Amino acid sequence: MATVTLEGIRKSYGRVEIIPSIDLEIASGEFIALVGPSGSGKSTLLRVIAGLEEIDAGRILLDGKDITTAEPSEREMAMVFQSYALYPHMTVAENMVFALRMRGADPAEIDRRLTAALKMLGMTDYAGRKPGQLSGGQRQRVAMGRAIVRQPQVFLFDEPLSNLDAKLRAATRLELRALHDQLGATSIFVTHDQIEAMTMADRIVLLDHGRIQQIGTPQQIYREPRNRFVASFIGSPEINMLRGVLAPGAGHPTFEGLPLPGARATAERQVDLGIRPEHVSVWTEAAPDRWPFEVEAVEFTGHDAFLLGRTPAGRITVRVDPDSENGLADRVTAGQRLHVQLQARHILLFDPETGLRLADG
Ligand code: ADP
Ligand code: MG
Repeated sequence: MATVTLEGIRKSYGRVEIIPSIDLEIASGEFIALVGPSGSGKSTLLRVIAGLEEIDAGRILLDGKDITTAEPSEREMAMVFQSYALYPHMTVAENMVFALRMRGADPAEIDRRLTAALKMLGMTDYAGRKPGQLSGGQRQRVAMGRAIVRQPQVFLFDEPLSNLDAKLRAATRLELRALHDQLGATSIFVTHDQIEAMTMADRIVLLDHGRIQQIGTPQQIYREPRNRFVASFIGSPEINMLRGVLAPGAGHPTFEGLPLPGARATAERQVDLGIRPEHVSVWTEAAPDRWPFEVEAVEFTGHDAFLLGRTPAGRITVRVDPDSENGLADRVTAGQRLHVQLQARHILLFDPETGLRLADG
């Protein structure tokens, strides 16, 4: 087990600055998800940690020891990639221990580690097979096994589940997290998939353009996003974002002249108002606190149904319970005129200029 500390990491390719400056403290045994859009610098940062890329400035510490200039092989880290790159002519067992053999490790020790890893991965019966005789999920496990036998202090994962189909990915997510807990190592897991990040990580590090946008638990990231980017990146369907004027109003606050009782509005100002689809209530009847809502489309996913439509303040998506007693989700059709209310305590307010979350929002 080891802590990983990144101090003022800067990385450019030629004259293009990919990572302007990153500071990050990862606790021993922690599972960190490094998440962000494609091209945000996730793989670059992981490769920097692994020692596969040189940095322009900063320090990397492993358990407090400076490893900035250490060779990848000296770093006690093992990386698992999306493309497993298994040797097709070698068996599962040979693939898993190849690196150890190359290093001249003691054969008895290699055997002991192999047996343990195969067992841990449920792959004992497949030890003699070639990669071509395995499913995608099994090949992924071999790649994982190759890392496990090295007994690293830190596991570095670069989108290792991306090649698996949706169902297998969900199952492997759980397995991988359980393995992490069992091994007790520190894990840094790169993904562009917010669900993977949310379900697996102790803490999420959200990157955009090589900059950390927020570090927090999945709950913090979802409920208390620091800025508009974080609020919009995490959550599916995306959070509703309405730009308009929030005013204290007479009697109760208003947004674009529409009633917004319970909202915090001390002075009239332009805001970006964020509200998640599950935090909007929908009715068939009008009432003074409700906004008109014209349905444009209905999406039924099974455990959720979403109504996409138009309010006088802009388009929003609303989650409705498909199994609710009134059966609204099954009856509603495009073109129907309904009424919505934003749940005031869940409203998130952002500065339209800076994108930062407002202190009172
Ligand atoms: P992510 O993994 O988040 O998708 P990457 O770290 O792979 O992003 O890439 C971040 C940025 O760095 C991208 O704009 C990419 O084009 C650029 N980049 C990555 N590797 C290189 C390289 N070897 N040379 C030049 N640019 C690179
Ligand atoms: Mg990448």
